[in-house]
Amino acid sequence: MKLSIQNLSKTYANGTQALNNISLTIPQGMFGLLGPNGAGKSTLMRTIATLQDADTGTIMLDDLDVTTNKQAIRERLGYLPQDFGLYPRINAEVMLDHIAQMKGVGNKKDRKYLVESLLNKVNLYSHRKKALGTYSGGMRQRFGIAQALVGNPSLIIVDEPTAGLDPSERNRFYNLLSEIGENTIVILSTHIVEDVSTLCSNMAIICAGELLMQGKPKEGIASLKSRIYKKAVEKEALESYKSDYQVISTKLIEGRLSLRIESDNDPGNGFEPAQTDLEDVYFSHISRKVDPITL
Ligand code: ADP
Repeated sequence: MKLSIQNLSKTYANGTQALNNISLTIPQGMFGLLGPNGAGKSTLMRTIATLQDADTGTIMLDDLDVTTNKQAIRERLGYLPQDFGLYPRINAEVMLDHIAQMKGVGNKKDRKYLVESLLNKVNLYSHRKKALGTYSGGMRQRFGIAQALVGNPSLIIVDEPTAGLDPSERNRFYNLLSEIGENTIVILSTHIVEDVSTLCSNMAIICAGELLMQGKPKEGIASLKSRIYKKAVEKEALESYKSDYQVISTKLIEGRLSLRIESDNDPGNGFEPAQTDLEDVYFSHISRKVDPITL
């Protein structure tokens, strides 16, 4: 099974071009869609989830055209949207039972079994009687995964799921996502590079509606091998370094700026070779489109 996106474009009524001729092939397993805020990720996710239409282009799930077979796609889809709303007074067990009913699990006994097994899977069984409004951010996201898994979807979309989670909640969420079957397509949209480096076997980078890279994280890293150099400089010197070098990212460490640059050969001038990581891949692509300092 694979999802094939061809020449997808979308311009909103106010003139914002959110997707600019995106072509992308998404195989089974975990796929990371990485891009800064405003890149067009949610627009792409909502279009795949059949919640909005593109202006041009096609999306195929194997032989099934997503735009003309919305109902069939919805039956195979699990979706955790970015702004996942919950009914705050309802408890997890009742809510999941209701969702299962809406998704067509008609038999009460089957639903009870399904709800119990999903709550166990996302580690919320002991919290099943608590009102959803009392859940922490991490619990809410795990509940979001449980509702997305109702109906055994073959395509699962999770949009910015780890934003706002603390490190231990994020870890627990990573473990849960990595347990989702290998036989499913899971698209994880995120602006957090660590989400992709921890979880995804394939990835793409989009920025300003354009596809900048697709492939395996390790291929991306290999393509930049021995091309990344680093140096700690005073903050005031940044502008002059930016005009002399291809600065891809900066981090403030103990009052000084740690610069990372991309270069074909050893730049000298106190720069040291750096171990390339996925963040370099991300910033190398993004910095060609937007100023890295404003990221
Ligand atoms: P991301 O999920 O990567 O943050 P979005 O798909 O939400 O990106 O947004 C892409 C661009 O489209 C942004 O410039 C955003 O402001 C704009 N946009 C998103 N939704 C709408 C809308 N309904 N109407 C107009 N512009 C929108």
